[in-house]
Amino acid sequence: MYAEIIIPLALPKNYTWMIPVSMQDEVAIGMRVEVMLGANKRYAGIVKNISSKAPEAFTPKPILSVLDDAPIVYEHQLALWQWMAEYYMCTEGEVMQAAIPSHLKISSESVFILNEQQEHDNKNLSDAEYIISEALEIKKTLTLLEIQKLLDKKSVYPVINKLIQKGICFVQENMKDKYSSKVEIFLSLHANYKNEAALEKLLNEWTRAPKQLDLLLAFLHFEKTEGSVQQKSILEKANATHAQLKALIDKGILVAEKRKIDRLATDTNTGNSSLHILSEKQQAALESVKEQLITKPVGLLHGITGSGKTQIYVALINEVMQQNKQALYMLPEIALTAQMIRRLKQYFGVSIAIYHSKFNPNERVEIWNKVKSGEIKIVLGARSALFLPYKNLSLIVIDEEHDPSYKQQEPAPRYQARDTAIYYANQLKAKVVLGSATPSVETYFNAVSKKFGYTYLNERFSTGALPKIELIDTKKQPAGTAILTPQLLASISKTIANKKQVILFQNRRGYAPYLICETCGWIPHCEHCDVTLTYHKAKNLLSCHYCGASYPIVNTCKACGKQNFKQKSFGTEQIEEKLNQSLPGVIVARMDLDNVKGKNEHDQLIQKFEQRQIDILVGTQMVVKGLDFENVDLVGIVDADSLLNFNHYRVNERAFQMMEQVSGRAGRKNDNGTVIIQVSQLQHPIVQLVQHHDYFGFYNFEIQNRKHFSYPPFSRLMSLLFKHKENNIAEEAANHFLHSLTPEIQKTVLGPAQPIVNRVRNKYIWELAIKISKQPQQLQLAKKQLLHYIRLLQVHPRYKSVNIVIDIDPN
Ligand code: ADP
Ligand code: ZN
Ligand code: ZN
Repeated sequence: MYAEIIIPLALPKNYTWMIPVSMQDEVAIGMRVEVMLGANKRYAGIVKNISSKAPEAFTPKPILSVLDDAPIVYEHQLALWQWMAEYYMCTEGEVMQAAIPSHLKISSESVFILNEQQEHDNKNLSDAEYIISEALEIKKTLTLLEIQKLLDKKSVYPVINKLIQKGICFVQENMKDKYSSKVEIFLSLHANYKNEAALEKLLNEWTRAPKQLDLLLAFLHFEKTEGSVQQKSILEKANATHAQLKALIDKGILVAEKRKIDRLATDTNTGNSSLHILSEKQQAALESVKEQLITKPVGLLHGITGSGKTQIYVALINEVMQQNKQALYMLPEIALTAQMIRRLKQYFGVSIAIYHSKFNPNERVEIWNKVKSGEIKIVLGARSALFLPYKNLSLIVIDEEHDPSYKQQEPAPRYQARDTAIYYANQLKAKVVLGSATPSVETYFNAVSKKFGYTYLNERFSTGALPKIELIDTKKQPAGTAILTPQLLASISKTIANKKQVILFQNRRGYAPYLICETCGWIPHCEHCDVTLTYHKAKNLLSCHYCGASYPIVNTCKACGKQNFKQKSFGTEQIEEKLNQSLPGVIVARMDLDNVKGKNEHDQLIQKFEQRQIDILVGTQMVVKGLDFENVDLVGIVDADSLLNFNHYRVNERAFQMMEQVSGRAGRKNDNGTVIIQVSQLQHPIVQLVQHHDYFGFYNFEIQNRKHFSYPPFSRLMSLLFKHKENNIAEEAANHFLHSLTPEIQKTVLGPAQPIVNRVRNKYIWELAIKISKQPQQLQLAKKQLLHYIRLLQVHPRYKSVNIVIDIDPN
């Protein structure tokens, strides 16, 4: 017997291995097996197919070991991977790489790390497992080679796999990964005082150390209200010191113990809140969505910001739960999942889990297994949650479906998770609900053409009305007030005086997007990219936002030698500074990539803002998306021109969505919401449409442009990037490729052209953009041809070192 096996690499095709007779009863589709690739590389691959037919051209090598007792993925997942590889023109190995958690990927390059968070019992280990576990205790990490040496044999995957399953070690994903400890110290009352009389006696006879008594009382209070007490939080809440706590422990009153926290269970919320009662409009919308889903695979819920789309999703998901099936709730960004899970846990308790790529491997595997067994019914996640092994998925909700973050840019698979979800749901006979206040042009087009169902919810839940929008002409402002105009400042002060909060949006981080020599016009650029360097004041450096390189501040012009630099334009850091200068005493916080790293920091900032410890939140796109703050009355778009001035066929769509979404954060629970847009192009059609919250006007305007230039949804786009460290080779390769295409396809190609940023990380970039007609089969045909010529280019002596990036349906 022979097996076709997917290896997590970008191989041109899947290869075949022989299944030794001894393993024939053990191997099944979807299981991992250990195989050798080349002379000495070992991988855990996944069996995609089993057949009795031997390959004709060669004798396959044997499978070395079988790692699983049962398949780790379902066959419908393997079918999805295959479709993704075909559609997005990458390999199944690349999809596998993205789809399964690192725990399940083992290769010659893997490094295995001791799981220090888990106490383990050596009694249950085999001899080989014991040897490795002891070595890990000492060395903390081991490579595959080291393990082979220790066990004095080559095939060690089964042993490693068992150690991983037993939680003794895990696979390091890359050298940079650090796994923050999940161990927390918990406090409990010593057994001697569990009895009420003893405790009462202790408290009654307490004489000295009043601070310790305060801490003890605080402890008792929290234990009663919250069940378990974490050392960290009690010290904070009781405003006590470690010394005071230590005294209580030394006296034998409290006991401290390290406990592993199971993130899935940290939230003690049991989920017994009943669902909100829907308003009449919401109820009607819910019925409409449900009815349309009977006959259509996808329903679009177009609901203005604050209309309560979430409540409708919750009702839909709840029905799925009642039927004992699974639902996936997708959000475009990991960062948004934290606020949403707090909302959803109230209803769904332990049946719901978050899943995304920022979780550590232990947690991910745990969720993986619970989804596979069906124990977890609802998953909230970003793109990668699509790859979990759902046992019986019957509903996918895609919230903020218009959001560009649903598209993965780098690395392959460069997939659009919304579109992929629609395909997948069709295969599984599951239904999809797309939700947005500003549906993407493609999605609304599909609704208009009756391919998708359509439901419109045009009323805010609490107030009915959307916020009113004021435009401020930045051309007519006194000098030096372009960033914070007097009107904007006055509105901010008024809002804060009313004990309300403010959000200011600016799409650029840093202090100033570039510096310019006032004498000769020279602008500092990154050495590796064709990008101006952004000035960061607090860090006192210049930084490239493409490759991340940073540089010391330049004082002397490299072109003319003068010391006469001026800062141009402005980013969030400068807005924050100006606010602090103009409004002393007001608490300002900034939310952008410089300030907020990782999901925890982001969530902490959101919680602080929710708890009103911050008056003004200044931020980039991060503040735009789907967040629900009830106390925000004023939203300011500080520089709308920066959204309107770039050269891309989606510029209008993105600008409209961004402005409408950020506006949607204002006045969600009352009628006092105001949005101030600072802009110089007052008459710009998009600005006018935003001012009237006119989505339909926007769509009618935009769909005509798209039709006129036959852009999506009237065609499909493909982008091919040719990257090389020498500009002329990249350019030649693009031209060579273009001229190898048939004249018919050549007609559909734009370029070669250099993108706006034409060099990144020392590689020059040339681009071909291809518009493919929507007629059936056209895409398949074009792809086939393109793939053929790409293969030819990849073996061409002059161009084989050119890096070709294929992007289907690019953003
Ligand atoms: P959207 O996602 O459409 O912008 P949300 O679902 O976030 O809107 O709802 C806006 C606010 O209104 C939320 O704070 C939500 O809790 C509240 N809300 C919406 N519908 C209801 C309802 N039926 N009962 C109680 N509160 C609701
Ligand atoms: Zn100069
Ligand atoms: Zn750079």
